[in-house]
Amino acid sequence: MIPVISLDCPSYDEKVLKRTLEELLSALGGIENLIKPTEKVLIKPNLLRASPPEKGVTTHPLLVKALTEILKDIGAQVIIGDSPSLGPFPLVAKRTGMLEVAKSNGVEIINLDQSLTVNTPSGFSFKKIELDPRVLEVDHVINLPKLKTHSMTLLTLGVKNLFGCVPGMKKTSWHLKAGIDRKAFSALLLEIALTVKSSLTILDAVWGMEGNGPSAGNLRFIGKLIASKDPLALDRAVVEGLGLSPEDLLTLKVAQQRGILPEIKLLGDSLNLKGFKLPKGAIPLPSQFKFLRKFFIPKPKLDPQKCEGCGECAQVCPPGAIKLKDKRPIFDLEKCICCYCCQEICIRGAIKL
Ligand code: SF4
Ligand code: SF4
Repeated sequence: MIPVISLDCPSYDEKVLKRTLEELLSALGGIENLIKPTEKVLIKPNLLRASPPEKGVTTHPLLVKALTEILKDIGAQVIIGDSPSLGPFPLVAKRTGMLEVAKSNGVEIINLDQSLTVNTPSGFSFKKIELDPRVLEVDHVINLPKLKTHSMTLLTLGVKNLFGCVPGMKKTSWHLKAGIDRKAFSALLLEIALTVKSSLTILDAVWGMEGNGPSAGNLRFIGKLIASKDPLALDRAVVEGLGLSPEDLLTLKVAQQRGILPEIKLLGDSLNLKGFKLPKGAIPLPSQFKFLRKFFIPKPKLDPQKCEGCGECAQVCPPGAIKLKDKRPIFDLEKCICCYCCQEICIRGAIKL
């Protein structure tokens, strides 16, 4: 049984965050038993795009700050790193508040933009993947996802957050390799998580995002920090807290089919997340109707009233299925692989499913 600790955390007040983090770490056996002085630790927040903390698109910088201070206190060498879907990285680091955290705590912040092809440990569906080598060179990766919905994967939690270890636009080619099959993409996410082997995952669920996430959904107060040494265990606890079954999150389903889905022991405060609104396109169908899914995979549609013609959706579309005409995106639905990267990146909520 893998422990997952959920603790109430009513705000991003620095003292409250630090106290709650210390309690979480102590419930997991103490930070000094996990990380030795002088060891190198990469903190991997969710830095999807250049969005300010109050929008709830990215991991809150004060959570990263509190964790960085705890790690520095025990003598660890800390780096903050991610590879945003849409750059430039210096702007992302500044707008998300991470640059300020790095400066004030005297730690480095890096763009995970280097690429190394590595063998996956299980070699199941994807035998090789491309990762930034620095996530493999450090002694520990601490994974700091944000609790948000995601139109393709249902939710973005511990396992999904590690997709940011794939450098920059290489993510696009991996989306293409997985194609329209969500299960194949989930298998890829699982391979990445198994290769990165994060030592600890702490979910920022003080404020989450529900509905049309992961960038244009609605903010929802949850008031929790949730932690586990195993991202699969953490994801399972959240999915069950939502009143769903592990099979409803495809990364967990793939893990279950491979016999590596952990049993969990939930500790701390209650984790009842029922009523959290899921994205329409990813709502799990009852099992007797699942064979219908391929006929009902929603395609992206433009809401012209909301579109500002920035062209960011076209920049991130893996198969190049979006062209701008008179500052309006035109979708080639024959080419579309339903990855929803366009919907994910559009903070104006102009892409519907
Ligand atoms: S749909 Fe969104 S991302 Fe695409 S051009 Fe319009 S506003 Fe920009
Ligand atoms: S149009 Fe949108 S959903 Fe379709 S492939 Fe491009 S980014 Fe993915």
